[in-house]
Amino acid sequence: MDAWSQDIHICLHSGEDAERYEGASVPPIFENTHFVFPTFEEFVQAHRNESERYVYWRGTNPTVQIVERKLAMLERGERCKCFASGIGAMAAALLSCVQNGDHVIGVGHLYEETKKLLAYIERFGVTHSITRTTNVDEIERTIQPGTKVIVMESPTSLTFELVDLRRVAELAKSRRVTTIVDNTWATPLLQKPLELGIDIVVHSASKYMGGHSDFLGGAVIGGEAFIRKLFDHEYLLLGAALAPLEARMLLRGLRTLPVRLQAHRDGGMKVAQFLEDHPAVAVVRYPGLHSHPQYELGLQQMRWTTGLLGFELKEASYESVKKVLNRLKVFRIGFSWGSYESLAMSPNYGDNAAQLAAEGIGQGLIRISVGLEPVEELLEDLNQALQ
Ligand SMILES: *Cc1c(COP(=O)(O)O)cnc(C)c1O
Repeated sequence: MDAWSQDIHICLHSGEDAERYEGASVPPIFENTHFVFPTFEEFVQAHRNESERYVYWRGTNPTVQIVERKLAMLERGERCKCFASGIGAMAAALLSCVQNGDHVIGVGHLYEETKKLLAYIERFGVTHSITRTTNVDEIERTIQPGTKVIVMESPTSLTFELVDLRRVAELAKSRRVTTIVDNTWATPLLQKPLELGIDIVVHSASKYMGGHSDFLGGAVIGGEAFIRKLFDHEYLLLGAALAPLEARMLLRGLRTLPVRLQAHRDGGMKVAQFLEDHPAVAVVRYPGLHSHPQYELGLQQMRWTTGLLGFELKEASYESVKKVLNRLKVFRIGFSWGSYESLAMSPNYGDNAAQLAAEGIGQGLIRISVGLEPVEELLEDLNQALQ
């Protein structure tokens, strides 16, 4: 079976164990705060091994565990722990790797809250540097004696630059630095960082994996020993447990993820090509286009692309960005992405020009998430908005 067929099988069936649940074709939602034990000795034994046993909701839950098994399999990792949000997962993963005096490298453009998290942990004596580009030589030059972790996204948030994950993994290993990849954009179906040598994968499952604008969740996937340690500390202590009902929603999202991703890619490609030819557009940031500077790298490390992309208006100003966004009728203005509905936004809020310039983000940047509407409608909508 090829990897794609294997992934479809995992999304549809693997890890569900229907016999355990009276043959139910869809696993039940275990909405119980705790589990009870016939004897106190058995209770003590279970509590001492909480990452393996069902004891209390904030720890291990059978419904959540099914999703965790699937995500670990999809990433080809040993083990997964689910969280109440993507940022909950990132905070736990990051905190599990650092202590007072350590240094962290963030690569290029990170998700806004991940950047804020790096700034936040400075109060605990953990410093960080953010590289300007995703260039491996620049990352190497940024490594200090105290560097413990490299955090990255590929493609990067907003600018859609790729990181050469295999090369960064090799570099990090040679320097005994842990690598964390936020794989939200690609999902485990389109990119498998662990297979490229990365240590830890983090997801916001609130985007493509959930897929329906009605779910928030996250996940961390890594080695057995790492996840066990994460469970005992950052998972149990920070308390960002994924709820069982949410786990079932994620399970449902995963069923259709392979077909949805194909549709998002088809739409994304068409929209990107249309924008690239449009006279009002300066540049399209989408790794699926031949014009993307790292198109070849994308072919090597990603199965294909998705429906989230950026483009920059030639008239790079808040006024033009606002005008285009307000003219859109099918694309709605919203913060999230990866859902059935097409969404648009811009990081240009009209009062942050200096910050955008410092971060190397164009004033005319618009980010769009291509949903599942008929693509002709989307092209027409963009066309009239860009007039
Ligand atoms: C949305 C997002 C997150 C945060 O996930 P939440 O589920 O919203 O907490 C992290 N990283 C990336 C790349 C995201 O898009």
